Amino acid sequence: TSFSALGVCTQLAEAAAALGWKKPSSIQEQAIPHLLQGKDVIGLAQTGSGKTGAFSLPILQELLDKPQPLFALILSPTRELAIQIAEQVEALGSGIGVRAVVLVGGIDMMAQAIALGRRPHIIVGTPGRVVDHLSNTKGFSLKGLKHLVLDEADKLLDMDFEQEIDQILKVVPRDRRTQLFSATMTNKVQKLQRACLVKPVKVEV
Ligand code: AMP
Repeated sequence: TSFSALGVCTQLAEAAAALGWKKPSSIQEQAIPHLLQGKDVIGLAQTGSGKTGAFSLPILQELLDKPQPLFALILSPTRELAIQIAEQVEALGSGIGVRAVVLVGGIDMMAQAIALGRRPHIIVGTPGRVVDHLSNTKGFSLKGLKHLVLDEADKLLDMDFEQEIDQILKVVPRDRRTQLFSATMTNKVQKLQRACLVKPVKVEV
């Protein structure tokens, strides 16, 4: 099948093609139609499955329709993964004017605060640094957030980010959409899923 057949708009299908994505991967084929319908999704998928495209294409498509700063927050367990996600989001979204910011440790808070001040559409970050900005960066709030993505949820929990995730969940609107991706479905991941997803559709590769 094609990206267009899944409901992906022409501009984004072309952006995917420009990255050399000839057709949707299995996780993309399964998840994208549900996401475009506004459902919460749990994806059981490993790195390399194309999960980044699966969770970001529907978010980008909604942004194209209704551009809004601080529209989506993608949480990743590591800085390397966060940077990779942001690169893919920007590669898919730059043609439609979407801007992302990366909030990870090891990089100057002030530079990130300035980037946040430019009101990017998408934030990709590690939970610790996102919480640091929530407490220290004036004017930064997630009150208008529409999409939350918990990527590699099993690793987020293995790395003891539970407390930071709880703090973030407290300041994002209830009225939002949530996606959770994980390579494994542990008890802890199930608990997190119950705490933050509503009537999720489960997709698996
Ligand atoms: P991910 O699992 O999201 O980290 O993606 C792994 C790699 O697969 C990345 O380099 C993507 O650019 C690539 N990729 C994602 N979706 C597709 C696709 N539909 N066709 C070919 N490559 C893809």
